[in-house]
Amino acid sequence: MAAKIDKNTCVGCGECVSSCPLDAISIEGEKAAVDEGTCAECGACVDVCPNKSISL
Ligand code: SF4
Ligand code: SF4
Repeated sequence: MAAKIDKNTCVGCGECVSSCPLDAISIEGEKAAVDEGTCAECGACVDVCPNKSISL
């Protein structure tokens, strides 16, 4: 399991990228992408997304 991005609602703002302590999120094609092997499911990114596009 890893944080999941709803690519239908993600606007690529990058807020989640800077929130991740493990640098597990990057912006690819103007959408956030989670490196599932790196994500520790800490939940930090979930709360910062203005569009509630991230779930665990
Ligand atoms: S914070 Fe939300 S809208 Fe912004 S890039 Fe991350 S997932 Fe997308
Ligand atoms: S749940 Fe934590 S480790 Fe995983 S992508 Fe979000 S901030 Fe990074």
